[in-house]
Amino acid sequence: MKYKHSIKAFEKAQKVIPGGVDSPVRAFKSVGGTPLFIKKGDGAYLVDIDGNHYVDFVQSWGPLIFGHSDKTIEKAVIKAVKKGLSFGAPTEIETKLATLICSLFEAIDKIRFVSSGTEAVMSAIRLARGFTGKDDIIKFEGCYHGHSDSLLVQAGSGAVTFGTPSSPGVPADLTKHTLLAKYNDIKSVKECFKNSKNIACIIIEPIAGNMGFVPADAKFLEELRVLCDKHGALLIFDEVMSGFRAHLYGAQSVYATKPDLVTFGKVIGGGMPVGAFGGRAEIMDKLSPDGPVYQAGTLSGNPVAMAAGYASLKKLLAHEDLYRDLEQKAKHLVEGLRLAAQEEGISLQVNAIGSMFGFFFNNKPVHNFADALTSDTQKFAAFHQGMLQEGFYFACSQFETGFISSAMSEAMIEDTIVAASKVFKAIK
Ligand SMILES: *Cc1c(COP(=O)(O)O)cnc(C)c1O
Repeated sequence: MKYKHSIKAFEKAQKVIPGGVDSPVRAFKSVGGTPLFIKKGDGAYLVDIDGNHYVDFVQSWGPLIFGHSDKTIEKAVIKAVKKGLSFGAPTEIETKLATLICSLFEAIDKIRFVSSGTEAVMSAIRLARGFTGKDDIIKFEGCYHGHSDSLLVQAGSGAVTFGTPSSPGVPADLTKHTLLAKYNDIKSVKECFKNSKNIACIIIEPIAGNMGFVPADAKFLEELRVLCDKHGALLIFDEVMSGFRAHLYGAQSVYATKPDLVTFGKVIGGGMPVGAFGGRAEIMDKLSPDGPVYQAGTLSGNPVAMAAGYASLKKLLAHEDLYRDLEQKAKHLVEGLRLAAQEEGISLQVNAIGSMFGFFFNNKPVHNFADALTSDTQKFAAFHQGMLQEGFYFACSQFETGFISSAMSEAMIEDTIVAASKVFKAIK
């Protein structure tokens, strides 16, 4: 593969955009090489400006469950665009999308739309604090909840990749209310409740995708529920990534535990910038203008973005067995990768739920962030480079999740495994 045009485009971008990118993980820092500049997406494929084609396992970091340029979503967006891009006034499509989501999630009576996952989580936390009248929050090492100040404490995703778990520019006064616990370790959570009587909420990715792919233990989530009830704290499931990805009905259908608030993003916008947070009416009614907790957005519930989200979710609802099919493919892929690696004496830890999958270059199972950090990131980087050369686009960090789209065929999965065998042989 030649990357001549991407290399030139990256040089140009770096002159006017910090690091040449608008979100740090895209810069390929942890795997080396030049980020690919994209010309277009086409179903399961990504096409870069040098004309190279790749099977895309990133899917814009999750949103594109039907692959690129899905015709149904495209049509809905174009129809909406023709009526105007934004009004800053209510439109019926917001109510339609809200009604649909409330009907799918037992824990959600009401929902409000925003423009990103970061905004959704930030707003949910403010609401939890406003509702409980408490200030402290518990988050887990390795979970990523967007880049708002009080959550940039040992955050996962890009922040981990760069080895700077918390960021300059975040006042210690803001993060002192954030207590860190260990994922899948209930003792560490009990410790937090012992240290503070002022805990408003626990926020967790119930199916974590930002320290690599690490699902929570069912018992652990249930114990969080019990602790929250005991101490009058709210349980927030951050399903910005797992929502409509792991399952149509979210983590609530994979686990028995019910959250008080849920946050969404990614798939809910079908590729457009949308986030949302929802929960019981009693909590949501505390939001302005009904209640005292302020939250707002000029472009929130944008009609074009809502049209994309509504078209996506309607299509998902019409193909409920899709998740079984995607999970079969995801499992086929990771099991194939694991066996291919094993043949070359490389240990891979693999996992998949619904259309989400992950693999760690690690000879021990990964249950939390500390485990994830023991993975061989150099080997991952070599794998990533090798797979790009073969025409397969994986997330450019060991600490990310992969996604299957409905545009991917069994044959593509087979081809991926064959290419991976070749790459494993070269990097062992
Ligand atoms: C991506 C993500 C976010 C942040 O969403 P943005 O749209 O990037 O702001 C928050 N939480 C989780 C679990 C995510 O995966």
